[in-house]
Formats: sequence, C-alpha cells, structure tokens
Amino acid sequence: MDREHFDVVIVGAGISGVGAAYHLGAQRPDLRYLVLEEQAGFGGTWITHRYPGIRSDSDLYTFGYRFKPWVGPPIATAAEILRYMEEVIAENGLAPHIRYRHRVSRARWSSAARRWTLEVTDLATGATRSVSAGFLWMCQGYYRHAEGYTPQWPGMADFAGRIVHPQTWPDDLDLAGKRVVVIGSGATAATLVPAIAGTCAHVTMLQRSPTYFVTGRNANALADTLREIGIKEEWIHEIVRRKILFDQATITRRAFSEPEKLRAELLAGVRAYLGDDYDIATHFTPRYLPWRQRIAFIPDGDLFVGIRNGQASVATDEIERFTADGILLRSGRRLPADVIVTATGFNLNVLGDIDFAIDDKALDFADTVTYRGAMFTGIPNMIWVFGYFRASWTLRADLIADFVIRLFAHMRAAGKSVVTPRLRDADRDMRLLPWVDPQNFNPGYLTRGLALLPRQGDRAPWRHTQDYWSERDELPAADLDDGTLVYE
Ligand SMILES: Cc1cc2nc3c(=O)[nH]c(=O)nc-3n(C[C@H](O)[C@H](O)[C@H](O)COP(=O)(O)OP(=O)(O)OC[C@H]3O[C@@H](n4cnc5c(N)ncnc54)[C@H](O)[C@@H]3O)c2cc1C
Repeated sequence: MDREHFDVVIVGAGISGVGAAYHLGAQRPDLRYLVLEEQAGFGGTWITHRYPGIRSDSDLYTFGYRFKPWVGPPIATAAEILRYMEEVIAENGLAPHIRYRHRVSRARWSSAARRWTLEVTDLATGATRSVSAGFLWMCQGYYRHAEGYTPQWPGMADFAGRIVHPQTWPDDLDLAGKRVVVIGSGATAATLVPAIAGTCAHVTMLQRSPTYFVTGRNANALADTLREIGIKEEWIHEIVRRKILFDQATITRRAFSEPEKLRAELLAGVRAYLGDDYDIATHFTPRYLPWRQRIAFIPDGDLFVGIRNGQASVATDEIERFTADGILLRSGRRLPADVIVTATGFNLNVLGDIDFAIDDKALDFADTVTYRGAMFTGIPNMIWVFGYFRASWTLRADLIADFVIRLFAHMRAAGKSVVTPRLRDADRDMRLLPWVDPQNFNPGYLTRGLALLPRQGDRAPWRHTQDYWSERDELPAADLDDGTLVYE
C-alpha cells in the first residue's frame, strides 16, 4: 500500500474541521495537512440536517468563527451557514487540502514510528488507503451522522403512515394535507413545527415534558446601529460577540443565583404570544430549572404564532403505543397522524466510530482522563474538539485551535515531536468524575452515552468545565510545562 504522510490530519469538515484547517493554514503554513471527510461536502451538521426550517439555535456572531465577520441575521439557516463556510474555504484556499467521501475507519499510533497510521476508505471507489500523520486533530462532532436516535415504542410496525427522523429527512416527503405528529420538544422540534405549520393539515408537537424557550426578534440591535453609523464589519463582529457573550454570562449567572426569577421571565415571554387562556403550566413550564439543557431561541416567536393561529398544537403526555392511524397516549387520548416525525435526538459518536489502537492495544476512550476536555491521558499527539453546549460550539473550536498552534510552537522550540498527557504522581488518587456532570447538564444523547466518554478529574488541568468564560482566559494561559504534558 502506498502511504502519504502529513504533519497533521484533521478528521471531519464540519465547522470545527474547516476552522482547524483555517488556523493551521494561517498560523502554521509550513505544516502539511489534510482534512478527511466522509460526506460529499463540507458543513457536517449543516449538510446532514435537511429538514424544513433547519436553522441555528445560537446566534452566528458567536457560532461564526472569530476571524470571519457574520453579516446576516443572528439566527441563520443551514444554507446561510454553508455559504459562510464556503467563503471561508474559498478565501483561504482550503479546498485542495480537503478530501471528501473519505472515511477514516482505523487509527493506529506507533511509538516506534512516532506517528499515526490511518486506514481510509475512499467511498467513491471502495478502495482503502493508508495515510500517516504526525498529529491527529479530531473534528468528528459528537453524534453519528448516518442515523439519529429513535426509541422503540410498542406498535410502531402497525402504523400505516410514514415514520421519519429529522436527521434523515426524505427528499420525497410531501406534507401537503397531512396530519403530522412531531415527537420531541427540543430545538429540532421547535424549528420544524413552525416551518411545516402552514403547509400540512395540522402539526402536533408531542412532548413528554416541556422545554424552555426564549423568544426575540431575529435581529441584533447593536449590530444594526453600528452598521448604520458606518462601522466596519470586522469591528462589528468583535463588538457584537463581546456584547452577546456578556449578556449570556449574565443569564448563566442568574440561572444559578435567581433561577425562579429567570424562569418567570422565560415563561412570561411565552405567555406574551399565547395569552392568559393558554395552558402554559402544562405545556411550557419545564420541571427542571433553566439552563440544565440548552435554551432554544425562537425567532419572532414563530412556534407560538403557529399555535396561536391553530395550525399547530402541543400535547404533553406519554406514548402508550403507535396504532395504525396514529398514536395512543397514556391519558387515553388519540393523536391521528399520517406522518410521525421522531425528533428524539442523536446517537452519541465518540471519536468518529474509528477503531483506535495505541501500539496495537485497543483504545478504550472511557479509560482515559481528559486534559482540559481536549486531550486524553495515554493518547499521544491527538486533540479532540468538543465545543460548548451553552455557548456556541465554535467558540471552543477557535480556542482549542489557538491552544494547538501554541503547543506546536512549544514542541518545536523544545525539539520534541510527541506529546502525551499523563497523570502526575500527585494526581493519581484524585477523584474521577463523569465527562459532564449529569446534575449540571443532561441531554439524552449524553446521559445515554456517558459510559463511552472519558472521565474528568477534580482539579485543573484534568477538568472539562464547559465554561467559555473561564476557558477563554485559562486556555491561552495554560502552562505547557506543568508536568501533565509529557514530551518526547
Ligand atoms: C440541528 C442542529 C442544530 C444545531 N445548532 C447549533 C447552534 O445553533 N449552535 C451551536 O453551538 N451548536 C449547534 N449544534 C451543535 C452542532 O453540531 C455543533 O455546533 C457544530 O455544528 C458541530 O460541528 P463539528 O464540525 O464539530 O461537528 P459536525 O458538524 O458533527 O461535523 C463532523 C464531521 O465529521 C465527519 N466525520 C465523523 N467521523 C468521521 C470519520 N470517521 N471519517 C471521516 N469523517 C468523519 C462527519 O461526516 C461530519 O461531517 C446543532 C446541532 C444540530 C444537530
């Protein structure tokens, strides 16, 4: 087998992988790198999801990269995000470095050769190639793209209509005149329901329990003002990012210091659309306190507008079973349906479903302890991008990229080519905790998959805080010679 070698291989051409390629090209043009992407194009999440209305739930000033101004409305459609990424690729000459329809299936680290060897399948031809890399930059996201998570309910096979998962939305699905039930009330359901409310006969959002939503205009007043007075886009991007992050920090703080007050405000936002007669207590008052899960933003209250004008409705109940013509609920109520959409989440995918080994010993990711949520004990020359849940994912992708570039410079100055996180003697008896604290953040895909994920320690740098506001200071200042990173 012929084998090409690269200084760095990036796995995935979603927003993280394209960002990693940009940072490498801009900050380390001397390094030879390759991006390997299983899908036929860039975008990851934003090409996988093609359901009606697909859009971001965070603002693009912070979900966009820090280096490329966002000039559109804050909440963006998948098409707008893809266009933005396309510009990043074109403006920075990234295209020649990306190979699409190339799936990485195995990765082997050799301590003797001091490099990774990847088994890569060219999905166009079925041919398998071997590629080696000094360093792996894992940008594979957090869920399996091929298939979403659908729980099994009794009677599913009896249903005469069509069952669809939003992650694999069929191109030929025509909802005109159809009665649709969307199971779930997360960001996906909240996007999909208003998008189809006018086009199908009726859509019901069926939820076991309610979710928090925040409503507002899909506009940023500060950005609009700055544009009006002629400030250049680079400045607007930076200023508006800071303002949004400042406001989010305030909300996060309030979620813990005055949760009841915040909760009342969020519910008042919903009531403003649905009025006093609507049963908000049943359908829109979550059992948990705000911020335990991402709060979905509903631009211009479109979900509530659909409910108010009767095109959409909400059922808060449990599924007893599917029937030939819909769903029978625990309460005895029946929801007739022609199409059932299971907006029930993702299958967690750690390390891109790649079979990893280190010196021929199979790697069990769950046996490792994370270094700052980005590297792992015993795994040499690998960085893993896992963004924020509560702040925009990309903020962390940018921070990690700067960290990697700094680490590379540090290694070069020291004449080293391998870096592996290792527990110091003083860390060996530290308490090990789950990757994320389920009390603090608990979406289904994470709680279902927690046993597959690395653990974190109880002290720096072994913690994975998921806190942008501390990491933005800590990561750039991380001491690369504190004994936790071992260089060879
Ligand atoms: C519908 C939806 C809306 C979202 N909205 C937001 C939002 O508004 N704000 C926010 O912060 N987050 C949001 N998220 C989370 C979102 O997934 C991330 O923010 C971000 O898009 C992840 O980017 P990524 O590049 O890290 O991963 P992904 O977008 O998952 O891309 C990973 C890529 O890696 C490829 N890949 C994986 N394994 C392999 C392999 N073995 N070989 C080759 N290629 C591989 C995949 O094909 C994929 O293209 C949303 C998620 C979903 C599903």
